[in-house]
Amino acid sequence: MQQKAEDQGQSRKARRCPICGKPASEAERPFCSRRCADIDLHRWLSGAYAVPVRPDDEPEDSALDEPGPEQG
Ligand SMILES: [Zn+2]
Repeated sequence: MQQKAEDQGQSRKARRCPICGKPASEAERPFCSRRCADIDLHRWLSGAYAVPVRPDDEPEDSALDEPGPEQG
């Protein structure tokens, strides 16, 4: 068994823009540019203000049949 852990890349130092994947800029960390920073902000705001939509089309079926602990 010979396995060397070569998982220590230098991806910790050089951050990448979470939006486009380009190397982040020092001025607009962790983004690469103001544009990407704006996009991220917009996304965040959109998600924060938007109401989470969930499928509420299914009919209510009393599903209170949880497999509880055995009782005796
Ligand atoms: Zn970017």
